[in-house]
Amino acid sequence: MNILERYAAMDYGPAPESRSEADAWLKAHDFSKALFIGGKWQAAASGKTFSVFEPASGKPLAEVSEAGSEDVDAAVKAAQKALPAWKKTSGYERARILYAIGRAMQRHARLFAVLESIDNGKPIRESRDIDVPLAVRHFIHHAGWAQTLEKAYPGYEAAGVAGQIIPWNFPLLMLAWKIAPALAAGCTVVLKPAEFTPLTSLLFAEICARAGVPKGVVNIVQGGGETGAAIVEHPGIDKIAFTGSSEVGKIIRRATAGSGKKLSLELGGKSAFMVFEDADLDSAVEGLVDGIWFNQGQVCCAGSRLLVQESVAETLIAKVKARMGHLRLGDPLDKNTDIGPLIAPVQLERVKGMVAEGARQGAECWQPASDLPHTGYFHLPTLATSVAPANVLAQEEVFGPVLAAMTFRTQEEGVALANNTRYGLAASIWTENVNRALHVAPQLKAGVVWINGTNMFDASSGFGGYRESGFGREGGHEGLYEYLKKPSGKTAYKPIPMPEPDKEVGSASFIDRTPKLFIGGKQVRPDGNYAIPVTDQKGRIHGEVGAGNRKDIRDAVSAARASKWGQATAYNRAQVLYFLAENLSVRAGEFAARLESLTGTRAKAAQAEVDLSIERIFAAASLADKFEGRVHQPPARVVTLALNEPVGVLGIVAPDEAPLLALVTLIAPALAMGNAVVAVPSQRYPLIATDLYQVIETSDLPAGGVNIVTGASAELTDVLAKHDDVDGLWCVGDSDLCALAERESAGNLKRVWTNSGLALDWSGDGELLEDFLRRAIEIKNVWVPYGD
Ligand code: NDP
Repeated sequence: MNILERYAAMDYGPAPESRSEADAWLKAHDFSKALFIGGKWQAAASGKTFSVFEPASGKPLAEVSEAGSEDVDAAVKAAQKALPAWKKTSGYERARILYAIGRAMQRHARLFAVLESIDNGKPIRESRDIDVPLAVRHFIHHAGWAQTLEKAYPGYEAAGVAGQIIPWNFPLLMLAWKIAPALAAGCTVVLKPAEFTPLTSLLFAEICARAGVPKGVVNIVQGGGETGAAIVEHPGIDKIAFTGSSEVGKIIRRATAGSGKKLSLELGGKSAFMVFEDADLDSAVEGLVDGIWFNQGQVCCAGSRLLVQESVAETLIAKVKARMGHLRLGDPLDKNTDIGPLIAPVQLERVKGMVAEGARQGAECWQPASDLPHTGYFHLPTLATSVAPANVLAQEEVFGPVLAAMTFRTQEEGVALANNTRYGLAASIWTENVNRALHVAPQLKAGVVWINGTNMFDASSGFGGYRESGFGREGGHEGLYEYLKKPSGKTAYKPIPMPEPDKEVGSASFIDRTPKLFIGGKQVRPDGNYAIPVTDQKGRIHGEVGAGNRKDIRDAVSAARASKWGQATAYNRAQVLYFLAENLSVRAGEFAARLESLTGTRAKAAQAEVDLSIERIFAAASLADKFEGRVHQPPARVVTLALNEPVGVLGIVAPDEAPLLALVTLIAPALAMGNAVVAVPSQRYPLIATDLYQVIETSDLPAGGVNIVTGASAELTDVLAKHDDVDGLWCVGDSDLCALAERESAGNLKRVWTNSGLALDWSGDGELLEDFLRRAIEIKNVWVPYGD
């Protein structure tokens, strides 16, 4: 036997991690008092407990107290009580506490890792080298944000009490992603870990007490879905942060609608792992091991769809199969283990069921001839080929070690295939051609794109999805906004009522005009062919606008989707907006007169509204090519480009107050960032908007960039909110209209911003514009490695 043959014949010996410390920790704890509320350990008021099992053996680990609504209420009250002092605590002091937490976690890193592997089943190599160090880094990174908060986020304050609900796949890491930014921002928290994996959160709570976290700042309640729902519905919660399934994400979107709670959702994915023919195939195979078999594939951003260019498909699939044959299934505490057990029997059955269904739908499912351990919920790594794009394995999140492979011929076809999903969490691009990689990355509808890599995370770089993968970002500069708010007024927004039209009094002083809808760059009649009179304050009719309906909104959305506006360069967008301001200024007198006669405002105020509207468009133009992304330098040989991308097709429902100024304050930043807009103008004063489209028509805006549908706000908002091809919705109105927009948007989880039923000051300074610019973008983090 030569040396190479000897290597090939060698097998791994066991390399077990000791569990004695973790077992001693488990033994020393009374888990029937596992609710950490107001700095004290408590049993559930009901006395109920639930069982926690070890996935590798199926043996019980602990009987943990289960929080009911009474306990959640106590936790929220403790968080509310602690909030004023924590908010007032200086940034430096909060930073010291976050730093102390990070350091204490580092000191107990091995215990955290072993407990996590016992509780979740993930291989110790992963919990030790990935989960725990990343969690520590999150606290230390956010210590910095705590100290610099006032300078970095002027005008913002803590959002309040944060309710945080996390899943079982990264129990400690998700806890860190939730708690670190919340504490840095000055929020207090009530966190619920998943029922399957409560252990490391308990160790974390102990560390909080030791690190000097004031009582009530961090509260941890254990329990299942009902406990989570009690947090979501509690009126004392100001912000909900959720990670989990898209299904529950949608339930939470509906449940929080109209409540004024801030919401961020980090949901499922069906991420593409694209391999081009010029990729280093061996690296790509190792990437796949991390992409889909990391944590048994129970990863929201798992590269579960392998898209490989046809010319290298056969070679790559052969290499993947050979590599799969070497993946080692077994004890999570063995340092040689690649794949541990799934979390629970229910998950194992779900994965098996989906593989069987995928096969029934025509996929060929291949597994290596590896042995399954005798105990635990193990599933063999599985490769599905001949997968049709509509196959369940190509469309649904399996959340298991199952890879669905498909081929593409051209780059365009590859991009189309990658985007053929309702999700949009992450994607990997494998190519040795950096030009190609940086060309493809912006075309992928995903919040994170890894080039020649996968599953890279860092506290400095935001993480979060497009589309039904949820909204909001965790980590990085953008992640802090999720826990901050601007102080708002308390005055309720009230729509301006339309007086009964005086049918006797018309205005025949000029030629009759028929304002139409503005769709796809053309003036069109409303589909229903009905008209609505528009009156002044005294009931005199000033004109009649089209009563837009469902069909008109659908046409407008199609026109927006087809618009070339999103492809315009930032400089080009700036020029068009400058031109729009210029053209509006030419007709300033006319607009002021219209405002004066319609709204009854005084001439000076009307002129001021027009002037400010022009200034605001000018300001949006000036920032179109300056409101740019950032570059992060995570602690690895990689740079992360945080790119600002347009949200896409944006519905905008404008208020009655300041009918011109509010409309342009909403539309101009949306356009500046490259969004195509479907606007529903003020229901009371729509003639302002129909005058405006004449200005838009002369300003070189490509067809479909702005579409205007006049009509009943509530009816049109409902259509926009339910429309699956609308990516975002901004709605200004009373509390009923805002609740409707939020509730009905749950279908495709579009990004919704509303005024929460409160009156806004549209004459506010430049900050208002910046707020809308920020809402007009999705941040995509593109990870670019360097070095050989
Ligand atoms: P869930 O979305 O049900 O659970 C996530 C968290 O939300 C858990 O803490 C859960 O509690 C809690 N929860 C459940 N129902 C509600 C509710 N109505 N209101 C508030 N909180 C609630 O995921 P599952 O654990 O049931 O997993 C099911 C599937 O979801 C997986 O197979 C996978 O496909 C996907 N998933 C995706 C994740 C991701 O990161 N994208 C993470 C986890 C799952 P508890 O678990 O304690 O009952």
